[in-house]
Amino acid sequence: MNRYKCKNCGGNQYTSAPDRENEPCIYCGNANTVLMDTLDEKPGENEGSAENE
Ligand SMILES: [Zn+2]
Repeated sequence: MNRYKCKNCGGNQYTSAPDRENEPCIYCGNANTVLMDTLDEKPGENEGSAENE
């Protein structure tokens, strides 16, 4: 299983496919998904994104 993270909305999406980078995000439709190293979200991963909690 691989985790892809949308750089636009910060949404995580999971798929077994290893080649889904830059696929449209399932949440916002933005083709800005990047393959992440881990399945679990890491602290600081959202640095520089618009997400602000
Ligand atoms: Zn998104």
